[in-house]
Amino acid sequence: MSVVEQRMREGIAGGPPDEVLGEALARATDTRIVEVGAGALYGAADTFASCFGSHTAVVVADETTYEVAGRTVHRVLRSARLPVTDALVFPSRPLLHADFARAAWLRDRLAAHEAIPVAVGAGTINDLTKLAAHLAGRPYMAVATAASMDGYAAFGAAITRDGFKQTMLCPAPRAIVADMDVLAAAPAALTASGFGDLVGKITAGADWLVADALGVEAVDDAIWTMVQPAVRQAVQDAARLGGGEPAAVARLFRCLVMSGLAMQAARSSRPASGAEHQLSHLWEMRRLAVDGHAVSHGFKVGVGTVAVAALYERLLAHDLAQLDVEAVCARWPALATWEAAVRQTHADPALRAQALAEVRAKYVDADGLRVRLQRLRERWPALTERLRGQLLPAKALRSLLATAGCPSEPHEIGLTTAALRASFGAARQIRRRYTVLDLAVEVGLLEPGLEALFAAGGELADWRTEAAAQSARTRPLAAGAGHNSD
Ligand SMILES: [Zn+2]
Repeated sequence: MSVVEQRMREGIAGGPPDEVLGEALARATDTRIVEVGAGALYGAADTFASCFGSHTAVVVADETTYEVAGRTVHRVLRSARLPVTDALVFPSRPLLHADFARAAWLRDRLAAHEAIPVAVGAGTINDLTKLAAHLAGRPYMAVATAASMDGYAAFGAAITRDGFKQTMLCPAPRAIVADMDVLAAAPAALTASGFGDLVGKITAGADWLVADALGVEAVDDAIWTMVQPAVRQAVQDAARLGGGEPAAVARLFRCLVMSGLAMQAARSSRPASGAEHQLSHLWEMRRLAVDGHAVSHGFKVGVGTVAVAALYERLLAHDLAQLDVEAVCARWPALATWEAAVRQTHADPALRAQALAEVRAKYVDADGLRVRLQRLRERWPALTERLRGQLLPAKALRSLLATAGCPSEPHEIGLTTAALRASFGAARQIRRRYTVLDLAVEVGLLEPGLEALFAAGGELADWRTEAAAQSARTRPLAAGAGHNSD
């Protein structure tokens, strides 16, 4: 990237400092401009011109996001005397989904001219436009309408094809514009969903520390710094987000964008996604729904984060520096045993095939495990210290989520306690990324840990808290009921 442009408008206190955002943009491969602030919509033409000169623009939106911001963006571009073709507007009803057929439809519309798409919306519109622009061989710009997830700046689009949600690799937007007033006016469930996705970075970070300590995947300090310090600050905004405070929503948005930029720089979702996302992906594949409405990504990640934090607490109660490595390795199952477990766990043929491939990819034999666990014994004292500094107690996370208006209990996202318990082992099978789920299995503590967590009085047995009960009464259960959920 030759020129790094970064202009932040006034009105946002806190969030990632500008120099951290500048550094993230310098390392990002696709995104050059991030503009967040009050009235940012009215700077959309300047941003577009900075990226694309006097190229023709075309606004892509759905009926709702067109009303919320698309019409204004179209007018602003036109007023700046930029060539603008007719907007491409998807119907809002039935609820728009990011599926391949719609992305292909959009690609065909784009192929009819050479205009640069300006995606006005949240997850769905951004994902559809990201893929369609890539398929049409051109860059695009995003105008965000909700702080609902971290996919705006991510490399790749979450698209459903043949009934299977998958991340299709395609470049992130050249520029991202977000108007604080628009973000703050978005349905509360969308902002809450963004908070759930953000909270997930805490356990994702912990998983990266574990993978680093065990020599599986090293932490990149610069990329770590793009995400973690700002996340710790932003989670303290739970009450302000629950109250819809514009500056807090803007801070959340900046953190989510930083997380996307970190994934761009890493060319991997490792900086922002760990076991909590594996749980969320599993529930996504199993089409978790409440009253027929799909549960948003952030809501699933939020509940997954509480579950994973609770598992960490069980592990940290053990002194793994004293682990009997030989005894563990002697009991370590052969690959065929893991494959049999996959076949038993996943009934869906496509999911089963994927899980088999992932489990094979990350399998280590007893010799490989011995090396890893000896390293764990040596590093456990230092690792526990880092993990304790990184993690928040599951109880505190539940309270933060509920305060922000996000589900914090499994039943709120259509999951029974028994299904949650069974999800730990199943989620480990669907991604090759090394997380606390792998660590728990390898040291032989997953089942004993779950036994304790789900026993009477265990951290995951008795979910209902006063704050969660209160928020469940006042909040729609699924963000999918609102517009442009991710
Ligand atoms: Zn996420």
